[in-house]
Amino acid sequence: MRPDFDDTIAAVATPLGEAGLGVIRLSGPAALSIADKLFEARRPLSAAATHTLHHGWITRSSRRLDEAVAAVFRAPTSYTGEDVVEFSCHGSPAVLRELLAWCCESGARLARPGEFTQRAYVNGRMDLAQAEAVAALIGARSARSARAAADQLAGGLSTRVGALRRAAIELLADIEANLDFAEEDLPSLPKDRVAAALGLLIDGIGLLLATGTRGRWLREGGSVVLAGRPNVGKSSLFNAFLAQDRSIVTDVPGTTRDTIEERLSWDGYPIALIDTAGIRKTTDPVESIGTDRARRAADQADVVVLVIDASQQLTDDDRAIARTLNGQAVVVALNKSDRPPAVLPVDIVRIGLQRSVAVSALTGAGLADLRAAALSLFPSGPETGEAGVVVTNERHAEKLSEALAACESALDALGEGRGEDAVSFDVRRAAGALAAVTGDDVGEAVLDSIFSRFCIGK
Ligand code: GDP
Repeated sequence: MRPDFDDTIAAVATPLGEAGLGVIRLSGPAALSIADKLFEARRPLSAAATHTLHHGWITRSSRRLDEAVAAVFRAPTSYTGEDVVEFSCHGSPAVLRELLAWCCESGARLARPGEFTQRAYVNGRMDLAQAEAVAALIGARSARSARAAADQLAGGLSTRVGALRRAAIELLADIEANLDFAEEDLPSLPKDRVAAALGLLIDGIGLLLATGTRGRWLREGGSVVLAGRPNVGKSSLFNAFLAQDRSIVTDVPGTTRDTIEERLSWDGYPIALIDTAGIRKTTDPVESIGTDRARRAADQADVVVLVIDASQQLTDDDRAIARTLNGQAVVVALNKSDRPPAVLPVDIVRIGLQRSVAVSALTGAGLADLRAAALSLFPSGPETGEAGVVVTNERHAEKLSEALAACESALDALGEGRGEDAVSFDVRRAAGALAAVTGDDVGEAVLDSIFSRFCIGK
């Protein structure tokens, strides 16, 4: 069902703020004629060839608003698949707002959020997974998240899912043709062939789904909590990491009263670094404060960095905190390595923790190693294919899970001899779920496939 795209839409495509450039985008059947009313150039834009740039002035009723460059993209090879004009003006919010108002007064309407990309999808310029990748790319918080989104935009995921979907449809066509011709004495479909095809589908979908762990991690990043008893140097380490990442740090207010959180990028992965030192000192015994902090912090962390003052002997508090971290992903920071060590890695192993890194918050020595050790503890999941296709989108993961469950159910139905109807029902569900990832209509595709292979009408 095609939404009504007869109208022409306009929006400011760049953030509103003082900037070198600001872009207004127009898309729709009247984009060129509206642009002509607002743009004074040597030739009207409606006479311009596609993919061309034109210098001129944004002008209405002899009032010159700004000097600008207009880019003309004609249907069907534009981003949206419609006629598109993009005005690159100077990045003045006042100018952009006024030009947008002019566009609307000249026959355009304000675009809804995502409407340019929605039109691109409806007009077949990209599939649903690619359209979703546009949003992911724009929202990417780190270089690696951006790369995963770009791979998806380039169609990596769509290709993989498309291949699985085609396999499901072929199988469906096989089974259904067999049903159609059942009374005509055709040999019935060999069970083991169907089982093998289902097995391949299950493996392929499972492999893609397994990348979801990495996908979630790329999308949302992970949290690293600095835990430990007071005065071991948690805040100092926190600040040392921030200083190192200063250029890419963005301020995020602490999520709870008890913690300080900063977002940074470690090797291109988005990380929330959380310092528990914000907890107010209370009159409780030191040990319970320390263990409580560690426990609470560990509960919410993907990775815990247990900070220890390695220039002193381990204390009972250190040991108590270490015990509460049992089963967690922990790396021990043997801090204050600028002083003679009183704690060695072997002592850490003795208290039940495997990994430790000598570090000095004061001098910065060992910080990179500590970061690498913490990163190595994150769930990465396998990358698949040459393009490293990763499922980063919740909806895609959900649809893939549905497809997997349907294939497994088909395999059960086959094993239990429940008949081809039951198997076909499940395979159809699987194909439908796979199609939903890229937004394709499975009904027609199944028909096409059956028709082309069996020529039923002779
Ligand atoms: P927190 O209570 O665990 O957050 O510890 P702080 O970061 O406040 O540090 C406690 C004390 O240890 C401060 O006096 C720091 O200057 C000192 N400190 C922290 N890291 C180091 C280090 O690597 N070397 C040395 N020599 N002192 C440190």
